[in-house]
Order: sequence, then structure tokens, then C-alpha cells
Amino acid sequence: MSSAIINGKEIGQEIRGAVATRVEALKSKGVTPGLAVILVGDNPASKTYVANKQKSCEQIGMFSELIKLPEDISEQALLEQISELNTRSDIHGILVQLPLPKHIDEDQVIQAISPEKDVDGFSPISVGKMMLGQDTYLPCTPYGVMKLLEHSGIEIAGKHAVIVGRSHIVGKPMGQLLLQKDATVTYTHSKTPNLPSFTKQADILIAAVGRPNFITKEHIKEGAVVIDVGINRNEQNKLVGDVNFTEVSELASHITPVPGGVGPMTITMLLENTVQAAEKELERQAK
Ligand code: NDP
Repeated sequence: MSSAIINGKEIGQEIRGAVATRVEALKSKGVTPGLAVILVGDNPASKTYVANKQKSCEQIGMFSELIKLPEDISEQALLEQISELNTRSDIHGILVQLPLPKHIDEDQVIQAISPEKDVDGFSPISVGKMMLGQDTYLPCTPYGVMKLLEHSGIEIAGKHAVIVGRSHIVGKPMGQLLLQKDATVTYTHSKTPNLPSFTKQADILIAAVGRPNFITKEHIKEGAVVIDVGINRNEQNKLVGDVNFTEVSELASHITPVPGGVGPMTITMLLENTVQAAEKELERQAK
């Protein structure tokens, strides 16, 4: 058996087309959706992520502003910067690129973002609303995975989804979103004994581990849908996922490649969340 490849680049482009149409509609009403991206320090990976986010905003006609702050900025000064962005009417979404330098408390910083502008969906208010199934901004990577499954016609209700990884930004919210679509969800992590005994039960397997080629054919049930969230560099400095694609694609019914799978969806959903924030702001003003 060989798998159908879930093409995140193509699905992402399709969604971005629809988002661009919404941007045009907002512009015709005098509103340009605006995203502020805060980058603290000189982390090369963070710089690349931020540049990609800005480029993607511009490509669909959105406004984006990069706020570069020095590595040694105080937590207080960063909080003041966020507070100012919270009040700006041309900024609808605020994103703080993580990780932050050690002397800054990330939780405090994320909490300072106004829930109306929390387009990353990381603040406790956004997370709480997501848990309750209320209207909120969903965290971009798990939201992107849900869109990949939806666009690929993969049934979720009644399926057993196994998540490998329980981080706040990927694993935990991923399980929650699948649960809301009536999957039976199992979380696994580094303390899970005999991991394959769990992953082999998965109809839908989500790998969010951060270890190159960690998931092999011994983890997979034939016909499973395999979503690889991992972005890692192997020994040859090549970009690879958490899943050994060559082996696993022999068994899976559907699989995402790396690159070109989940990656393009994360930025796509960030754009969508920001446009949604601008639409909601317009609605509030009209009331
Ligand atoms: P974290 O390091 O925060 O979490 C990794 C998770 O994997 C932890 O829950 C950890 O368990 C678990 N884990 C580690 N080793 C094992 C093991 N041997 N067996 C089972 N579970 C294990 O990573 P993130 O969630 O932030 O990211 C995961 C991957 O996804 C990374 O490669 C990252 O680069 C990528 N990523 C990709 C994105 C995209 O846009 N495609 C966006 C965000 C992340 P424990 O909790 O017990 O430590």
C-alpha cells in the first residue's frame, strides 16, 4: 500500500486565496488588517519565521509591522510595548515570536496581549475558550492540521486519534480540537512506556515530538492517517519531520510530507486569525 500525500502547500494556497478575498472586502470598507510581530534578540530561526510571516501578510494585501527589540530589553519595557499595541486601531493581531530570552517570563508576556488581538491563541483566555468550545482564535498549528484533515476528506468522528507530544502550542490543543470533532483521543509523551503499543492503535496519528525520523513503521497501523508536525534538521542539515516518511508511507493511507505538509498551514491560519480579528473589530464598531 502506498499513501496519498496531503499537500499542505496546495491546501494552504487555496485557503490563502479565500483569506485574500476577505482582505479585499475589509479594504473596501476602509480597514486594512494589521499584524504586529515582536521579535526580541537575534535568534536566526526566529528571524526566518518572522520574515516568512511578514512576507505572507504582504502577499495577501495585509499590513504587517515588525517590532525588533534588543536581547537585553527588560520585561517591563516589553510589556509596555504590548500595551501600546493593544490600543492601536491599525493593529488587529499581535504575535510575540517565541522563545523569549531567559530573563523574561513568557507567561506574563502572552497574558499581556489583549484577547481580541491574540491571533496565536496562546493566552490563558484563548486556551480556556478553546477548551469550552467557545468562539476564539485557535492556535495556528493545530488549527492548520484540522484544516488539512477537513480538506483531505478525512473522517474524524469515531476515530481513534493518538497524539505524540503534549506541548502547550501543539500537542495539547491538537487533542482538544480532535476531541471536539468526536475523535477518541489518547495523549502520549516522553514518559509513556511502550509507545508503539499506543500509536499502533491510531486511526489518526499526530507526531509533534521534535525528533528527526522518530516515528517508524513499527509505530503504525496499516491504513492510518499520519500527520507530521515536526520540523527538524538531520545530520546533513536537511529539513526532516518526526516521521520516517519512506517507511511510514508504505503503511499509511494518508501522510503529510516535511517540508510542504503542516508547515505552510501554520502561517496560513495566522493570516486567517488576523483577518478574523479585523472583521470582529469592524463588527464591534458597527454596534
Ligand atoms: P516540545 O519540545 O515543546 O514538545 C515535544 C513533546 O514531545 C513533549 O510533550 C515531549 O514529552 C514529547 N516527547 C519527547 N520525546 C519523546 C519520546 N521519546 N516519546 C514520546 N514523546 C516524546 O515541542 P513542540 O510541541 O513545540 O514541537 C514539536 C515539533 O513540532 C518540533 O519539531 C517543532 O519544530 C515542530 N513545530 C512545527 C510547527 C509547524 O508549523 N509545522 C509549529 C510548532 C512546532 P514530555 O512532555 O514528556 O517532555
